[in-house]
Amino acid sequence: MPEPVFRIAVPSPLRRLFDYLPPGAVAGGTITPGQRVRVPFGKRQVVGVLVEVVDHTDIPAERLKRATECLDREPLWSETERRLLDWAVDYYHHPPGEVYQTALPVLLRQGRVARAAGIQRYRASEAGLAQAKGEPRRAPRQAVLLDRLRSEPEGLTAGALATEFVTWRPALARLQERGWVESLEGSCLPAPQADPEGERPLLNPPQEAAIAAVADHGVGFGAFLVDGVTGSGKTEVYLGMIERVLAAGRQALVLVPEIGLTPQLIERFRRRFPVPIAVLHSGLSDGERLCAWLAARDGSAPVVIGTRSAVFTPMADLGIIVVDEEHDPSFKQQDGFRYSGRDVAVMRARLSDVPVVLGSATPSVETLHNAQLGRYRPLVLPERAGTALHPDLHLIDIRHNPLTDGLSEPLLKAAERHIAAGGQVLIFLNRRGYSPTLFCRGCRWQSSCERCDARMVYYAGARRLRCHHCGADRRLPTECPECASADLAPVGQGTERVEESLRGRFPEVGLVRIDRDSTRRKGAMGDLLDEVRGGRARILVGTQMLAKGHHFPEVTLVGIVGADQGLFSADFRAAERMAQLIIQVAGRAGRAERLGEVLIQTEFPEHPLLSGLVEHDYGHLARGLLDERRETGWPPFSHLALLRAEAVDRDAPLAFLEEARRLAVGYGLPGVEIWDPVPAPMEKRAGRVRAQLLLQSDQRSTLHRLLAGWTPQLEGLKTGRRVRWSLDVDPGEMF
Ligand code: ADP
Ligand code: ZN
Ligand code: ZN
Repeated sequence: MPEPVFRIAVPSPLRRLFDYLPPGAVAGGTITPGQRVRVPFGKRQVVGVLVEVVDHTDIPAERLKRATECLDREPLWSETERRLLDWAVDYYHHPPGEVYQTALPVLLRQGRVARAAGIQRYRASEAGLAQAKGEPRRAPRQAVLLDRLRSEPEGLTAGALATEFVTWRPALARLQERGWVESLEGSCLPAPQADPEGERPLLNPPQEAAIAAVADHGVGFGAFLVDGVTGSGKTEVYLGMIERVLAAGRQALVLVPEIGLTPQLIERFRRRFPVPIAVLHSGLSDGERLCAWLAARDGSAPVVIGTRSAVFTPMADLGIIVVDEEHDPSFKQQDGFRYSGRDVAVMRARLSDVPVVLGSATPSVETLHNAQLGRYRPLVLPERAGTALHPDLHLIDIRHNPLTDGLSEPLLKAAERHIAAGGQVLIFLNRRGYSPTLFCRGCRWQSSCERCDARMVYYAGARRLRCHHCGADRRLPTECPECASADLAPVGQGTERVEESLRGRFPEVGLVRIDRDSTRRKGAMGDLLDEVRGGRARILVGTQMLAKGHHFPEVTLVGIVGADQGLFSADFRAAERMAQLIIQVAGRAGRAERLGEVLIQTEFPEHPLLSGLVEHDYGHLARGLLDERRETGWPPFSHLALLRAEAVDRDAPLAFLEEARRLAVGYGLPGVEIWDPVPAPMEKRAGRVRAQLLLQSDQRSTLHRLLAGWTPQLEGLKTGRRVRWSLDVDPGEMF
């Protein structure tokens, strides 16, 4: 009998599996799909995943190589989970090796055993606990560290210490030598700390109804949309739904946007559930990530909370999936394997035959459409939980109100009033830096990036020019590079400039700026939030980092500055995104018993999007946007795939896309519209020229039939070797 053939997903950019003979040491029958196998690939040994065992290969015997070794005793994923991965390979037309890599923690990609090396925790020993405070006197670093460890009976991991201390390893080593600190191996999951007596709010009837709807649905696939404004108690509803799933002995998977995975959210889950909770986010060390992944897989973590990629985490007994802030663009991966974490979650629920709950204050137009079609059952939470009222939205017409550094007098007056009344003020501006560009009054030179079709942003504090697209970072010129004039002026405003201006206007009032620049240092975000919560800061200036996850109960005024950018964009999703952002930011105001006021500065007060926001609620507006999509034929009324190409060589991307287009046209599939290749909206980025080709169809299945044949063919195109290309199915952004 001939030996079986292993079809393996090998890390490679090719859209195919690779055939191997089973490793010598094992009989083929004991290895099943879902196990990792080490195989020779080119000149290297790589880790792949066995996808299929077949009895035939087209590879001639003399070229068929033997796998080196099997790395797992059992499959890493259940059969259902493997079906999900295979579905993702097919649906996104992405190389299987890269899809499987995405689904594996780094250490498993590298071939480590799939066992959690216990994570080291450090805690004060008996002797350490017996020391007087401030010991050892001569070594303040050790003293501070010991003091911190004494306050944690469970001890702290290296990862936790690294977030709190800059240099701590030498001090820790000395404390261990003294015998004052001991290390113990433990689970990466902190011990459960729920308080069974803990207070929980009495649910209001819509919350009760939402939880009951999912409970009554019972087991089996079902999709639900929890639609409620910020503060309407959605999280409380998820907790209630999950509680029932846990009581039935099953697991819950909760997906949140990167920025929404805040300590407060995790804390709420920890306080509620007396079980270990695995948290998967980008800040974990490789060891911690593996440990959390394995805890999800073997069921020792009944609750798993994570960002986008957590959707592929194996789980022993999945009972429900929750996707919070389902509209958030960060669920869509923007490079490499461009999957949508939300859409994969819905497919996972379908394959696993469990309910999936999407939640948002501003559901995406796609999701609303699914709700209208009856595919998703809407569960509406109409009011704010507790007693807070809806914020009041108003427009400030900046055509009739001169601006100082981007701020109008009515907005500044309102800020004054709210601060005097003891409230906090939030100014939202989605632009970092001091000004988006620097301008020479002598010759009209502008600070353009040499490698991108973009301006370099002026940072006044750091005295630098930075490009947000390629990372270029230059010292501020003291004179114009073109005409040597010293008359250089910042044009427009970013958060830094608004901060400076507000400090000038309100010198006595504490202010914090929250954006990617001010929160780069580890722990900085926490410190800034403490300033706000402690009431020392009364003014917050920030970007969309403020729009998600964090609650600012004392904020009574929200000012939205520079929102007009979204009104006239070429991207068909721009209006939706802008409305969501405004509503999300507005949702930070008047959280507690205070009435919030929201002021939006605009040059276009008659624009239907803005007047719609002021006069109606988001749902009304979103239904209007959906009607518009129906008329224009954009998603969800059609389906898109975008082929992108980029190269240093100016002509290469369009040459490749032109050839790709001819191939696609050759399929002659009616119902698929094949657009002409065009330069990307930002044609040059990081020194590369970019172009794109759009395919559009009313029928998802027709489009995918084309993609299935076409994408592998693209791999063979000669013009394709001169570019970097990628396929984006259901693109979130059109550039
Ligand atoms: P969302 O997730 O929709 O923003 P949350 O679940 O976070 O809303 O609820 C907002 C606030 O209201 C939280 O502080 C929460 O504890 C509280 N809350 C939620 N439901 C109720 C309720 N039924 N009664 C009183 N307070 C509630
Ligand atoms: Zn000049
Ligand atoms: Zn650049």
